[in-house]
Amino acid sequence: MNDYAKRVYDYLVEKNPKEVEFHQAAREVLESLSPVLDKYPQYEKAALLERLTEPERAILFSVPWTDSTGKVHVNKGYRVQFNSAIGPFKGGLRFHPSVNLSVVKFLGFEQIFKNSLTGLPIGGGKGGSDFDPKGKTDFDIMAFCQSFMRELYRHIGKDTDVPAGDIGVGGREIGYLFGYYKKIANEHACILTGRGISYGGSLVRTEATGYGLVYFAEEYLKTAGLSFKGKRVVVSGSGNVAVYAHEKATQLGATVVAMSDSDGYVYDEKGIDLDIIKKIKEQKRERISEYVKLRKNAVYTAGCAGIWDIKCDYALPCATQNEINAEQAKKLTANGVKMVAEGANMPCTIEAAEYFMSKGVAVLPAKAANAGGVAVSALEMAQSGQRIFWSFEEADKKLKDIMINIFRKADAAAKEYGTPGNYIAGANIAGFLKVADAMMSFGIV
Ligand code: NDP
Repeated sequence: MNDYAKRVYDYLVEKNPKEVEFHQAAREVLESLSPVLDKYPQYEKAALLERLTEPERAILFSVPWTDSTGKVHVNKGYRVQFNSAIGPFKGGLRFHPSVNLSVVKFLGFEQIFKNSLTGLPIGGGKGGSDFDPKGKTDFDIMAFCQSFMRELYRHIGKDTDVPAGDIGVGGREIGYLFGYYKKIANEHACILTGRGISYGGSLVRTEATGYGLVYFAEEYLKTAGLSFKGKRVVVSGSGNVAVYAHEKATQLGATVVAMSDSDGYVYDEKGIDLDIIKKIKEQKRERISEYVKLRKNAVYTAGCAGIWDIKCDYALPCATQNEINAEQAKKLTANGVKMVAEGANMPCTIEAAEYFMSKGVAVLPAKAANAGGVAVSALEMAQSGQRIFWSFEEADKKLKDIMINIFRKADAAAKEYGTPGNYIAGANIAGFLKVADAMMSFGIV
């Protein structure tokens, strides 16, 4: 790592000692930026990295709510507004028991570069709560969302900060959050994306991250003389990203043989039936273990890690951070995997990603490959601003063009800075340069 980057990294660890996820995300970016920092010493003079690794604002709040039995609960709420150099803060809300400040900071930091790569005018932020929506009634979810918004509403705005969904925050939660905002702020503005089509949402937003991941991967595969046709694919998770990654990969001729949730995974040699998964996960909100009751040839295994023991050509981790470690990377590589395309944020540990690359396995990093969701969110903002509505085909074409462009930017930056084929470095560098340029234009603010 370049000396300046190393000093910034050491300071960041010293000042935020327990934030291990944030350290990991920062280390990966700072390491990749070394050749850029060597070339442009002016960034050090302007303390650019110090400013980039400190959120502009971090809001921590309590979320008290009463459930349907009258019991009172209190959860933690977070919104980290990381960087607004190129546009309003933008990034999802995650509701999951594992959410803490470190997780929100890692996600918000990644979001800066991801959003920059889309080419659209959006800064980086992230938020959420340690609230667990799993198993809760609609009434409880609504009560929680309303309390969450009761505080959040004063910090967001269509030109300030525009959250969206993430793990545990889908269409239902966005509806409750938006409905309550509208009520208390007395305005119907685009302050959240991922909204329902009837109240300002964009077509393709639901599919965007999964489809975008596969469009990005397809573009990479073309450069390697490969495609999805006839290939075996493993997709982890069975949420929003996983479902639509499966759908698009299947449309392109692949067979998805395994999917998971946080309890375990299912293996179906003939190909996972996506209609069954959608019914179980999207409509009934049940566990993936239900799948084997409907497909007798399929096998369910409790525990998530074993999904990476399954032989496949391409792995699409679409569940959560650090779901592939070095051991799992070795197993996947030994089984002949050719490409790992990250649908989840930071699903590979640094060691896993390094191992894959050392063995010639392509790693398509999350901040580039899963940018489709936020890209269509920005398209939703554009449509709202102009009071227009694009058809599915129009929005899908824009998404595909954006993903192809992101791949080309990451590929070109990797080549220009001496690491061809290292899309992690390429994405970090390309995302950083635009933000750095804007920050340098502003002076010290
Ligand atoms: P969902 O909540 O829709 O689905 C998450 C899936 O991952 C579920 O199957 C869930 O299982 C599983 N999962 C969650 N936590 C864990 C865990 N600790 N261990 C194992 N499995 C787990 O979320 P999304 O599909 O929206 O998000 C998935 C990933 O994609 C996240 O990393 C998110 O940040 C990233 N992402 C999402 C975007 C979007 O547009 N939605 C945009 C860009 C990135 P269970 O049901 O059991 O909890």
